[in-house]
Amino acid sequence: TPPSGAARPRLAFLGTGYLGATYAICFAELGYEVLGFDVDEAKIAKLAGGAVPFHEPGLDELLRRNLAAGRLRFTTDYKETAHFADVHFICVGTPQRADGMGADLSYVEAAVTGLAQHLTRKALIVGKSTVPVGTAEWIEQLVGKHAPADLGIEVAWSPEFLQEGFAVEDVLRPNRIVIGVKSDWANAMLYASHKGVFDLAATEDREVPLVVTDFATAELVKVAANAFLATKISFINAMAEVCEVAGGDVTMLARSIGYDPRIGNRFLQAGVGFGGGCLPKDIRAFQARAQELGAGEALRFLHEVDLINLRRRTRVLTLAAELLGRRSGPAGPDLSGTRVAVLGATFKPNSDDVRDAPSLAVAALLAKAGADVRVYDPEGMENARAAQPDLAYEPSMNDAVRGADLVCVLTEWADFRNADPIALGELAAGRRVIDGRNCLDSALWTHAGWEYRGMGRP
Ligand code: NAD
Repeated sequence: TPPSGAARPRLAFLGTGYLGATYAICFAELGYEVLGFDVDEAKIAKLAGGAVPFHEPGLDELLRRNLAAGRLRFTTDYKETAHFADVHFICVGTPQRADGMGADLSYVEAAVTGLAQHLTRKALIVGKSTVPVGTAEWIEQLVGKHAPADLGIEVAWSPEFLQEGFAVEDVLRPNRIVIGVKSDWANAMLYASHKGVFDLAATEDREVPLVVTDFATAELVKVAANAFLATKISFINAMAEVCEVAGGDVTMLARSIGYDPRIGNRFLQAGVGFGGGCLPKDIRAFQARAQELGAGEALRFLHEVDLINLRRRTRVLTLAAELLGRRSGPAGPDLSGTRVAVLGATFKPNSDDVRDAPSLAVAALLAKAGADVRVYDPEGMENARAAQPDLAYEPSMNDAVRGADLVCVLTEWADFRNADPIALGELAAGRRVIDGRNCLDSALWTHAGWEYRGMGRP
């Protein structure tokens, strides 16, 4: 039951990356007064100037509209943020720690302490970043240490499920809102902070389920959801491995099992596996945290999920060697003297995010094996160049394919799915294609004279 009575609070989003900037902009669009805060001055200057610093369909227009309407501002000043908002959402990065397993909470710590010491009235601090269970309690302690005690600052948790590429829709029309709270006041403040979302749903005759729970559950919901999704992808990729030796076709298998609504066909595409700034780091951090809590055994399967996922990347290398007629030695195949076009650098289409992208990882493996690799991506070139400066990049799909002995499609951008295999065949030196996302029409490509290999397909 929604609590009533809370007025429309002023909102701050600390950390204006993919998550925080999208939230700040969309909540301004819902009518809230919003302040976006980041320590990255260049990012804040861009946002304040009306440019979204990353690729997200539809977001630029909303940014400009809400800046112009005066509902949305950006700052690098903790003090201004502390004074402005009633509810502060923590949206900073929580990358994988250098030791490879747990989450690095140093940005969360910096944001919370930086904010807390400047607070001058009662406010709610809401965690949104993906974190190990127990972080909300730790933030309460940090706040207790750094904020004036008489203000009664409270903490809450509200995990985030947005998908890059669909982020605007996911924020304005989420399929659920989960909040972890300890008091009626925090519950009411968070309800008021999301009232715009519920109101929009009501005008569209939809309902947004609201789950109100404790801190630990709210934190776990996010990592559990990501663990499930990663497992679903690795499950079908494991089936792809079996299909490869048994002569089956994993795309038909996935379609057939996906008709069962208990299984469902979404997130059931075999390919080069998952990547991005969330799933890989989140399942590793989840295992590390479970281990610390004494429940390591419960999540041992996530280690397998990770390994299955990483094996798909080396599978592309093996397929490339097969197609190019190169033998594999103990150090892997020697692809020297071959030229390979890698189409796709982002971890998924409609994003410019290359964090832990399988496509770039495969490109690096191919280059290490001696191939002359040429990478092209519709949106991710700038980030890819920064992440993998040693690879060669081409300005268009045609340029990448020209003279290539092998084409690897590793991100399922529409440009690649809809590419004309006849025209590309005229540019390539050899008509060999690896469809790392099973996203091409194999019959069309084969008909155009290409030797086609999918993932988990005969
Ligand atoms: P990001 O790297 O794009 O953004 C993080 C931002 O935090 C950067 O702009 C950085 O400058 C800023 N920052 C660092 N220290 C700061 C500080 N002290 N104060 C204010 N800002 C600071 O990362 P992201 O993809 O937006 O992810 C943020 C969090 O949200 C992560 O925990 C991630 O797991 C989670 N998440 C991300 C997504 C997604 O699709 N990207 C979805 C759900 C949850």
